[in-house]
Amino acid sequence: FDEILKAFETVLGWADDTRRLGVRTNADTPADAKKARELGAEGIGLCRTEHMFMAEDRQPKMRRMIMANTRSARKDALALLLPLQQEDFEGLFAAMKGLPVTIRLLDPPLHEFLPDLPDLAAQVERARIECTDDLDELEELLETTERISEENPMLGTRGCRLGILYPEIYEMQVHAILRAAKAMDVPPHPEIMIPLVDYEHELEIMRELVVRVGDDEGLHEGEDYTVGTMIELPRACFVADRIAKFADFFSFGTNDLTQTALGFSRDDVESKFVPVYMERKIIERSPFETIDKPGVGWLVRLAAWVGREAKPDLKLGICGEHGGDPDSIEFFHMAGLDYVSCSPFRVPIARVAAAQAAIIHANDRSWADA
Ligand code: PEP
Ligand code: MG
Repeated sequence: FDEILKAFETVLGWADDTRRLGVRTNADTPADAKKARELGAEGIGLCRTEHMFMAEDRQPKMRRMIMANTRSARKDALALLLPLQQEDFEGLFAAMKGLPVTIRLLDPPLHEFLPDLPDLAAQVERARIECTDDLDELEELLETTERISEENPMLGTRGCRLGILYPEIYEMQVHAILRAAKAMDVPPHPEIMIPLVDYEHELEIMRELVVRVGDDEGLHEGEDYTVGTMIELPRACFVADRIAKFADFFSFGTNDLTQTALGFSRDDVESKFVPVYMERKIIERSPFETIDKPGVGWLVRLAAWVGREAKPDLKLGICGEHGGDPDSIEFFHMAGLDYVSCSPFRVPIARVAAAQAAIIHANDRSWADA
């Protein structure tokens, strides 16, 4: 077994000498980050901060914050979350030992933090019939939940829309990131990433917020941290040159980009029509597994091209699931991206696939360069 492992390490070493694409990982915990680094990850390409609030002890604090009716109540709830977030980021920075860490500000569909509406309505109904003491409290909770709930949460107040409506949430996260950065012995490379940007003005506002908090913390954009954006909506691809003015980097969110470009629900991939479409050869593979090259892939190439036209040193990565798929990795190599980011266990495959792409296309000029 040791022999096989050694041979495997040798092959991966050759792959690293050959590939042009960087390979990072998607990780939200120090344990995943450490595992990925052992497997050769050269940084974190996506930390989904919403996952940090899913733990049982944090859910109530988060729910209290989301459901607060005033800005000051929300700020009180956020003050409790700030030290926890700072600890989270210190753990990630320590695990990555100075390698770049892309931290995406909060991007949950809000319903993930709300009480289940039908359950709550039933509870209120029972409380009304039985005239229980908690009736007023339950009614208020129901009213707030109804006010915040959305018919289509995946297309609702997600990503930077949340940051525009409730800037104090992103302010707390940026303070936590930068305080964690200041606390490290080995200086980290935080890359602060804004999710679900459609309009350049959204990113402009969010960038101002980050820089303002950076100034408060005595840190400087470009030196101590950078600011970039997810590109995961078709509009963002069309106006990538305008968006690039406010971004140091783009990271393609091909999960949402596939969902929004094709109008396929990413939560129902296995079900219903996708397998039938594959069987009938309308599509070859699920577009959530392998990049749909002529469709979603075209959007990626367009955004990479016009983004770099506007800002030649714009860093380009991909952090959707496709970042670990060999066929898609070949495509991202051709599109001129700088790195792919994938789950820790897919990092070795990505290293090999990136090397294969470099060999196969050694004599091609990529479309993005042409
Ligand atoms: C994406 O949309 O591709 C992405 C990486 O973000 P998430 O999967 O968290 O929406
Ligand atoms: Mg996304």
